[in-house]
Amino acid sequence: MSPHPHPRRRRLAFAAFVCVVAGVLMAMVIAGEAGVTATPAPASTRAAGPLPLAAEQQPAPPRGCRYRPRTTSVRSGPAGRRRVALTFDDGPTSYTSRILDLLEGERVPATFFVVGRKVAGREDLLLRMLRDGHMIANHSYAHVDLSKASAAALRQIDDTQDAIKAATGFTPCLLRPPYGRTSRKLLGALARRHLTGTLWSVNPRDFLRPGTAAISQRVLDGVRPGSIILAHDGGGDRSQTVAALPSIIATLKARGYTFVTVTELLVSA
Ligand SMILES: [Zn+2]
Repeated sequence: MSPHPHPRRRRLAFAAFVCVVAGVLMAMVIAGEAGVTATPAPASTRAAGPLPLAAEQQPAPPRGCRYRPRTTSVRSGPAGRRRVALTFDDGPTSYTSRILDLLEGERVPATFFVVGRKVAGREDLLLRMLRDGHMIANHSYAHVDLSKASAAALRQIDDTQDAIKAATGFTPCLLRPPYGRTSRKLLGALARRHLTGTLWSVNPRDFLRPGTAAISQRVLDGVRPGSIILAHDGGGDRSQTVAALPSIIATLKARGYTFVTVTELLVSA
């Protein structure tokens, strides 16, 4: 047998090799194109409506939102550490972005109890909340008394979960009943939905607009380790609340408090 293959046979072998390489390359190109068509639409087309976001476009879920259904309302966290949870109800509104700016500057996380019907058109605010490390929670769809846990009340809860999920991809695990009105029946319904009823331990009654100094003083007088502070970013003119935040945050930091979301306060209990 000749030590070298016949020249013609060598050409045939080379042609076969080229065919195989070309076939592999074509398969790679087709697979690549399939990958491209599977990627989501660009941001400009998504911005038009509240389409569900693809998983890779959703902000990371807030820390600590574990499903720990409770059959009693939470009013505060453990008193062993100087931690406090700042909460805002009734948004999102035009005040929410001012509050988010302030919190971002102070590197303070908060918990926002959102009214479901206010989400449409303000999805960007909810997405920013998650990006900035805040917690989003449920405050009913139209700010109604949920305590009877009627079919209509349960729909308020579920519609708000759906609105928040559609806007952000995130499903809340906390619900604050409007007016603080709760019941055993409501708490049972919340537990079945993996929601924890969340009230508060410090209420400066900022919704009555008592003045910036009064809001700040009431919070500072009331805070203890583990406190959940009630404030409002919706439901009316909230400029006093916004103006009171810098002194509240600065004074509590000076007293050695760390701000956490409600779920962080609870899960590390
Ligand atoms: Zn409210």
